[in-house]
Amino acid sequence: MLFQETADYYNRLEGISSRLEMIDVLTELFKKTKKNEIRNTIYMTTGLLAPPFAGVDIGIAEKLAEEAIATATGSEKQKVEESFKKTGDLGKTAEQFIANTKLRRMSKEKFEINEVFETLHKIATTSGEGSKDAKIKMLANLLAASSPLEARYIVRFALGQLRLGAGDATILEALSKAETGERTFKARLEEAYNICSDLGLVGETLMKEGTKGVEDFRVTLFNPIRPALAERLPTAEEILERMHGKAAVESKYDGLRAQVHVDKKNKKVEIFSRRLERLTEMFPEIVNAALKEINAQSAIIEGEAIAYDEATKQFHPFQETIQRKRKHGVEEKSQELPLHLFAFDILYLNGESYLKKRYEERRKTLERIVKGDGTIRFSDMIIATKPKEMERYFEEMVEDGLEGIVAKDLDAPYIAGARKFSWIKMKRSYKGELSDTVDLVIVGYYVGKGIRAEFGFGGLLAAVYNEKTDMYETITRIGTGFSEENMKMFKKTLEKIKSGKKPARVSSIVEPDYWVEPKYVVTVRADEITKSPMHTAGRHAEGEEEVGYALRFPRIVSNGIREDKSADEATTTKEIIEMFKQQRKTKVGEEA
Ligand code: AMP
Repeated sequence: MLFQETADYYNRLEGISSRLEMIDVLTELFKKTKKNEIRNTIYMTTGLLAPPFAGVDIGIAEKLAEEAIATATGSEKQKVEESFKKTGDLGKTAEQFIANTKLRRMSKEKFEINEVFETLHKIATTSGEGSKDAKIKMLANLLAASSPLEARYIVRFALGQLRLGAGDATILEALSKAETGERTFKARLEEAYNICSDLGLVGETLMKEGTKGVEDFRVTLFNPIRPALAERLPTAEEILERMHGKAAVESKYDGLRAQVHVDKKNKKVEIFSRRLERLTEMFPEIVNAALKEINAQSAIIEGEAIAYDEATKQFHPFQETIQRKRKHGVEEKSQELPLHLFAFDILYLNGESYLKKRYEERRKTLERIVKGDGTIRFSDMIIATKPKEMERYFEEMVEDGLEGIVAKDLDAPYIAGARKFSWIKMKRSYKGELSDTVDLVIVGYYVGKGIRAEFGFGGLLAAVYNEKTDMYETITRIGTGFSEENMKMFKKTLEKIKSGKKPARVSSIVEPDYWVEPKYVVTVRADEITKSPMHTAGRHAEGEEEVGYALRFPRIVSNGIREDKSADEATTTKEIIEMFKQQRKTKVGEEA
């Protein structure tokens, strides 16, 4: 397929205001795409050059793109800069400059999508001395041979600002429709996606091997499995009831989730975060331990990496563990404040997937293949059959400075990529507050009044994620709790992703000063969940209710943006409705 055609589809996607329309356009695009192009088309449409865990980041700087536009069109760099100041979008600037250039196009030939993709890939992976000039040259050559519309998308893509707004679930639904004519095959595609985390690979398997290929999809070492997530319930009774009277109860460590893949024969280890970023280089002590302390040819184990003081048996706070998430000084940090991995699951062993096996069997296997007294420990665990036992354990954990507990259904398989009641968390709570924080997606922001006008930032419009509809529904406006530094940071970050109109996957009645692409997550504490006609969270969810849910006295608790969570990992509408019900129950209990 010619890239010009892809660009035409992108142009259509930009003008769309509903998710259903978006699926129709994507379905059409995927139907037209050839088998050997589908993988790259999916990556490109989601703004990527490879699955996210591969860490191929194009991230061209604005200055560099300006130079490429100037070179490609024989214009002065200053003119390009001036235009960019006006348009605020280098993609638009590139489009205008290409349309107006007097230079003859370098080639009359048109690009195929794969050619554009490969060139962009090459730009991203060129490194070392002289690479800056080489990148400018490659981008300039590509632009010089592009049409104005192609140039718009090439530049936005190169800057990491493509922003077509198509989430994973939307892509999967469109793939299902394109290949089978129905949306129902999406569930199977999702299963395959949950065990390989690679949308491009899933799309390619479907197009090349048909539905059978997707049904036969297998876990592969070094392709991260999308993590299982925990539901929440406020009392031990409710947890035990859900788990048929017997549950494994583990400590909940407040560290970084780590999925460790190890291949002993080739001495290869990779570590992935909850968001499936490759974090291998940041945990040298865990890489070493994986090779020494795991007794297997190959395995995938999961645990929480946390700074832990062996001598005092004390856990360090999250802020200290997270210091590891940086590129420099890791080796020194690993000496000064070594991390331990508190392993809680095994997902794969010696070529065999363990996902379908019961928790109890997985845990036994984990304890069999890991010694458990070195850098890799096991999460602390008891089996509880009475609420009292679970409560006592919970109190002990909280006293030890841990976050709470995660109860696990002994009979359940590992449910990749989903929040299910086979894992249930119970966390510390404080009087007069919601028992748990919520993670919200920023969908818009306000410019400040009075003293805040100075910062150009007056608060956020935040949303929860509705898994059923793949939409972001607003739940609150957050106007307090920001430090000056935070306000500056939000302004700077959000300005880059603001948009003139409401994004297609946002459902909202209120109108912020600026909409932003749903991308960033913040952790928020509130006093209460209330019903409100102002917000769309949970509207129509139960019966024909015209009101949604809102937060009372929301305030930011995360120190800025949660780097470890993506928009689709935010608190869901379903969870908010559950929390609302539980809050009522607790209140009734208190009054009694
Ligand atoms: P939350 O982030 O509050 O939804 O809680 C779920 C997270 O708790 C997981 O993603 C893990 O990173 C973390 N966690 C800590 N201890 C455990 C444990 N024993 N089992 C499972 N998850 C745990």
